[in-house]
This record gives sequence, C-alpha cells and structure tokens, in this order.
Amino acid sequence: MINEAISSVQKEFEAELPSVDLNSLEAVNALRVKYLGKKGSVTELLKQMGKLPAEERPAYGKDVNELKEFVSAQIENALAAASEHALEAKLAAGFVDISLPGDGIPAGSTHPLYDVREEIIDFFAHMGFAVDLGRDIETDWYNFEALNTPPDHPSRDMQDTFYLADKVMLRTHTSGTQIHYMETHKPPFRMIAPGHVFRVDSDATHAPMFQQCEGLVVDENISFSQLKGILQLFMNQLFGEGVKTRFRPSFFPFTEPSAEMDVSCVFCGGTGCRRCKGTGWMELGGCGSVDPNVFKNCGIDPEKYTGFAFGFGLDRIAMLRHAIPEIGLLTSNDQRFLNQF
Ligand SMILES: [Zn+2]
Repeated sequence: MINEAISSVQKEFEAELPSVDLNSLEAVNALRVKYLGKKGSVTELLKQMGKLPAEERPAYGKDVNELKEFVSAQIENALAAASEHALEAKLAAGFVDISLPGDGIPAGSTHPLYDVREEIIDFFAHMGFAVDLGRDIETDWYNFEALNTPPDHPSRDMQDTFYLADKVMLRTHTSGTQIHYMETHKPPFRMIAPGHVFRVDSDATHAPMFQQCEGLVVDENISFSQLKGILQLFMNQLFGEGVKTRFRPSFFPFTEPSAEMDVSCVFCGGTGCRRCKGTGWMELGGCGSVDPNVFKNCGIDPEKYTGFAFGFGLDRIAMLRHAIPEIGLLTSNDQRFLNQF
C-alpha cells in the first residue's frame, strides 16, 4: 500500500515532466519545489518512513530513495537545459559581432606651420645651407647692436621688445642667430635660422609670438643677383612655377642695399583682387647685401667677403597658402581649425 503511494508520485511526476517548459527556469524551479521542496511530494514520502513498523522500513526506504534520485536527476537535467537556454537568450540580446572593425583612433595631421617650416628646411638643406635654430633669449648685442642697430638708432622704435632684464630680451627676430654663426664659423658658408620670435604686438596679422626664417650666405664675390635667383626658386617651391617676384628698395640696419620682396598675388595670379588690394602683389619678406659694419662686428673682412641675407615669416607663408584670415588661429589649438588640414 505504501509502495503504491511511491509509485503514484512517480507516475504523477513522469506525467507532468513532459509538459514543463524546459526553456523556463521558473517553471523547472516550480517543479523542483513541488517534488523536492520542504513540503514536496517526495519529501513527504520520506517523512512517512518514521511512522512505519521497523520491518517495513528498509524496503520502503530503498524505494523512496530510488524515486528521490530519479526525480533529482530529471530535474537536474531540466535545470541545466533551462540555464543554457537562458544564457543563449542573454547572449542573443547583447550580441557583439567580434568580426566587425573596431572604432578607429582618429589620426592627427601635421600643423600647417610645421609643414612650412619642414619644407623650408628641406629646400635650403638641398642647396647646402646649414640649419641653426639659435636661441629664444638674446642679449642686446646679438639682437640689436651687432646688427648695426646702436642704442640710439631709430629702427629700435620699430620693434616693441619683451625685455627679461637689462639688455636681455626675447629675440625680436632671428637675425641674431646669424651673428652667433658668423662669430663661430669662417667663410665661405651658407645657413638658415628658423625659429620663434617675440614682439609686443597683437592684431589680425600680428601675434606676440610668431616664426621667422632668416638666411645668410657669405663668400667672395657674392652678388645681389644670386640672392634674387635663390629667392625666386624658393618662391616657386612654395607657391608654384607661375609665381613672380619683384624687389623694392627698402631699409634695414644690417643690410645695404636692402629690399622688400613681393610675390605675385597667390590668390588672383597678379591680376588684382581684394586680398592684394588690387595691386596684384603681396609683401613676403626682406633681404639685402650684408652691411660691411655687420661683418666688422663679427670679425669678417668686408674687403674680402660679401654676402646676402633674407628673412620672412613662416606664419605669413602658411596664411597665404591656406587663405587663413587671422594669424592667431595658427596657435589657437582650436580643433575646428586644425581638423581642416
Ligand atoms: Zn590678388
């Protein structure tokens, strides 16, 4: 009779098992509680054992334990299947296709000023010019006096200078590097001096810090026509084959004669436009033959040697090449500006 109770539970379980949704952990858990929980059918059968006469207990115990193992094994399998299904569903919901390309790391580009500087160095290095970066801080001697600009010279008023101490300043031009170079090298030589310069000045076309490049050639029989030839080639390199140059008489304390160099407008090709104010020309740099007094200051014999020097602003070249309206944009670190290059 008691064995009937066991077989009845077993039949009930076997009948119920196929109808349980094996995709549902809750359903399988409910089945487990119904048979193996504290008040489950199988647990109740086990509790009955104590009420039996001693001689019936072994056979009953064996049967009920077999049932418990059978039910446990079935539910164990069902739980495993339901867990696996739950995991698959979770993966499907948050599917990641690992074969897809990842998010790219955006690559930077070179700064337009850096490009100009590299191109200038490359051009002159190929023509045998040495490159001397000089120093940002100069003394009065290198920045003014050795360049034929004595303390009372009116051209000092042209430059408002950042003084660091008495007669010590942030250089206002890269020309001082040429003095250092002439003091430490014997002619013949040719060199360029690119670098930052500093002036108390700030508007759309002037910045307190900008970049210049100066060049210097010293040898016997160096002439102004060689200067013009080199600068014409240089402008062709920067702005293309069609660009023309012209030289207008000017004044610098450290060159004699001195000239301003213009290039045909890079926007209109020389026909005249708003950017060149209708003239067809744009001012680009200064140049001239080295003043004999500068040679004397550096211990070079002006009777034996002649030379020429030139200088221009890198910022101005970059602005012309990319039609940049304000010099301040070049050092603003504004990504909206920089991403265009
Ligand atoms: Zn123009």
